[in-house]
Amino acid sequence: MGRQNPNIVITGTPGVGKTTHAEQIARSLGFTHMSINQIVKDEGFHEGKDEELGSWIVDEDKLLDHIEATPLPSTGGYILDWHACDLFPERWIDLVVVLRCDTTTLYDRLTARGYKGKKLEENMDAEIMQVLLEEARESYREEIVVELRSDGVEDVEGNLERVEEWVRKWREENRGEGEEEEEE
Ligand code: ADP
Repeated sequence: MGRQNPNIVITGTPGVGKTTHAEQIARSLGFTHMSINQIVKDEGFHEGKDEELGSWIVDEDKLLDHIEATPLPSTGGYILDWHACDLFPERWIDLVVVLRCDTTTLYDRLTARGYKGKKLEENMDAEIMQVLLEEARESYREEIVVELRSDGVEDVEGNLERVEEWVRKWREENRGEGEEEEEE
């Protein structure tokens, strides 16, 4: 496909640490952090909020058209950060990181964020039932889906190193595809 850098999805239940990881990984690799939630909100790619859950009812066609118009599909180097992953076409994505978190820790993070009632319950259930991991496994090739822990700060550092190492390998394996003129 000729991308110079891989595109990486960071997904998981709200509160697992997607933004924390996406920001750090993007900074250390010089990639672009694409927060889907932010885009949906800023560009108005939604049909309002789900009253009970407080989450956006996303207009996926508009969102995908918007992403397609960025350099993401051609040059790569994007970190897609969202609590869903099955809508991104497989051809855009090189790695899917599913972050997982201990349930008591997640409960504390979500209540600190003001989640309560049904919204809190549904998100806790989603983590316990590993909904995002299943979604990732159903949507992408097994080899590109990795599950990483995000319980404490030390996990973030370890995960960052793992992703950096993975990107180094990806570049080696894909060297030349997008920059043939630089070969020799
Ligand atoms: P998400 O983007 O998945 O909703 P955030 O990155 O916003 O999650 O993290 C939610 C909260 O949990 C933040 O206060 C963040 O600092 C904290 N947090 C996330 N991951 C970790 C971690 N691995 N160790 C310690 N704190 C974390």
